[in-house]
This record gives sequence, structure tokens and C-alpha cells, in this order.
Amino acid sequence: MSNEPSASGTVRVRLRNPDRTVEAPAPCTVGELLDGLDLLPHTVLVIHEAQLLTADRLLLPATEVEVRPVISGGADGAPRCAVCRAPAVHEEPRHRAAWCSTHLADHVHNQIRKAIDRPPDRPTGERMFHYGQRLLVAVSGGKDSLALWDALLAMGYDVDGLYVGLGIGGYSSRSQRVCEAFATARGLTLHVVDLAERYGYSTPSGSDATGRSTCGVCGLSKRYVFDQVAVEQDYDVLLTGHNLDDEAATLLGNVLRWNEGFLARQRPVLAARAVNQRRKCKPMFRLSERESAAYCVVRGIDYVVEECPLVDGNTGHELKAALDLLEAASPGLKAQFVFGFLERVADRFVDQDDAGVQRELRACASCAMPTTTDTCAFCRQREAILAVLPLATSGVRT
Ligand code: SF4
Ligand SMILES: [Zn+2]
Ligand SMILES: [Zn+2]
Repeated sequence: MSNEPSASGTVRVRLRNPDRTVEAPAPCTVGELLDGLDLLPHTVLVIHEAQLLTADRLLLPATEVEVRPVISGGADGAPRCAVCRAPAVHEEPRHRAAWCSTHLADHVHNQIRKAIDRPPDRPTGERMFHYGQRLLVAVSGGKDSLALWDALLAMGYDVDGLYVGLGIGGYSSRSQRVCEAFATARGLTLHVVDLAERYGYSTPSGSDATGRSTCGVCGLSKRYVFDQVAVEQDYDVLLTGHNLDDEAATLLGNVLRWNEGFLARQRPVLAARAVNQRRKCKPMFRLSERESAAYCVVRGIDYVVEECPLVDGNTGHELKAALDLLEAASPGLKAQFVFGFLERVADRFVDQDDAGVQRELRACASCAMPTTTDTCAFCRQREAILAVLPLATSGVRT
């Protein structure tokens, strides 16, 4: 959707609360329009020239419609569940809807189901993954990854967990305990890999040794360990809890810097392109942080609420704050930004070298994991760290 003037190939949509106009690709059915706008059909009326339209009506380019919310508060003004009309526990301006506890959980499952069954940048009919595949979810102890693990289990998937100990003092210890408690209470398999024990450095000591930002060292290390464990343990698909806010902030950062290589890889599904590589998926990409946190509360999931103490090195938070301001003024903007990118322009970006040739993957000379260079970035980083910290076996700060 965009706020550009009406043109051939789009339908002009007037939205309310707040009153604004957006454009959507046309031709499309009313049902497809609402799906694209992330609106629940039973919470709105779609009106064209004072006539109500049903979900199967075709909208041709240059048509103008109004999408009018129909669910108001109860007699006491309190919001009601969009499904059962019980008092709501959570409102989502983006969807112009509210839900009771039960139907909030259903809503989250529905959004994950939609993400799995219809990833926007994959051929029609291709799912993120299937029942029967071995799934591994990377859990940090935070709300998103634990909500994802819980939701996938509730939806009947067979999923194990992976926790990576980053050595960030008490924060890492508490995060690990929360993940272990989640897995133990449900009888699940959780793989735990300690960065210092296995690779000889922690996030803080690696940062100190190289002068790189802690988040830079951390991010590269986590991604590598996720991939390596998924391969070693023979999982089919690796899952992460990246949510809509994460994706919007990353996309904004990549667009502001026109980082085409990163834009080429910003997808809810990254197919495996080499032997030592697994498919990677982000089934939470349609859900906001608020929805994910609210889901944890209504499902009784204990998660680490505190922020990583090293988060100041992460510029993603400033981008999230900027996007939050825009979202408050125009609910749904983040979703339009991310989904619009994936549906309309993501294909234009290719991970290519300076000569415009798509980068090929080969086996790292040191560890055999896939890389575009002789030695992978993780091995190069680790070598640089251990050259300064040759005796480090535990970089845990307390
Ligand atoms: S905030 Fe930075 S250092 Fe902390 S867990 Fe996230 S990426 Fe790692
Ligand atoms: Zn309800
Ligand atoms: Zn390597």
C-alpha cells in the first residue's frame, strides 16, 4: 500500500480511525484486499458508492472503496473480543480489533499459520516447512522465541530448541534458566551451546579483543552456532523468533544505507543453498512485539523481560523507536512497509559482488560451513579474537 495518488493498477482505500487513504494492488477481490491490509473481515464493512461489498467481489483498478470498522466498545465503553464479544484483554490498532485471552492466542496461531502456509516471497503453494520435518527453534529466553516454540507445539509441530550461552553475566544465566525451565516443564529437547566453552570466547571478551561492537560479535557468533548445530544435529529447518518490529527496523536500516546485499537476504524464508546449510524461517514475522508479549502472558509463558545490558550497541532500537512514532500516527504502517517490500520489491535485490555476479557459496577452508570467501567470517573473527585471548576458555562476566 502507498499514499501516492490513484493510478492504474491500484484500488484506492479509505480507512478510518484514524481517517486516511492508502492504495492497494488491483485487480483483487475484497477478501484479498482485507488480507493485504491485515484486517479481519468480520471487523469491517467494505463500501463502494454506498453499496456493501462481499469478500468475493472483484475490485478493478481505480476503484474507490471505504473500509469501515464495525466493532465498537461494549455498553461500558470497554473493548470487546472481535470473535466472542467477551471483554477484551488486548487491542491491536493495526488490525482494528481486540481479543479475549483465548482468541488472542488463536489470532497469534492464525498469523503464524498464515506465515508458514503463504510466505510472501515464495512460489504459491510452497510452505515454510511441513509436519514431519525436524524443526529447531533458536531460543534466547525472550518473548518472541518462546512464544514461537509454544505456538508451534500447540499447532502440532515437532520442534526442539537451541540456546546459545553468550557469556553476558547474569543476563545470560537467567536467560538459560528460563529456556531450560520452559523445556523441562514440557518434556522438550533443548540443546545448550556455551560460546566460551566451545569456541574459547564470550561476546564481551570477543568484543574487547577485537574492538568490534558487542552486537557485531554476538550476531555473527549466534548465526554461526545456529547453523552449525542445525547441521550437526541433522535438523531440516532452523527457526528464529524475529517479529514484525525486528523486520521493520532491519529493513529501514538497510534501506537508509541502501545495503543491497542485506536487502537480498531479508526474507522470512532463506532456502538452503549448500550442503552444510539448512533452510531458515521466521514464522513470527507477521506479529508485533506487543502481540508476542501479550501471547506469552495469556499462555503463562515465563520469559526474560529485562533487556540485554549490552543493547546500547544495537542501533536497531533507535530505528524501532522511530518506527513506533510513525506507527502511532498511522497504525499498520510497519506491516505495509515490511509486507510491501516482500511482496513487491524484494526480488529486485540479489546478493552479488562488485562485478554484479551472484555470490556463490563454497566450504570454509577451516570449518567447512558455507561461505562466499575462502575462510568464513566466523572463523576469521574467532582467529582474531583468540590471537589476543589465546588462553580464554571462559569469558563470562559476572
Ligand atoms: S543486544 Fe547485542 S549483545 Fe545483547 S544479545 Fe542482542 S545482539 Fe547480543
Ligand atoms: Zn473471544
Ligand atoms: Zn569457518
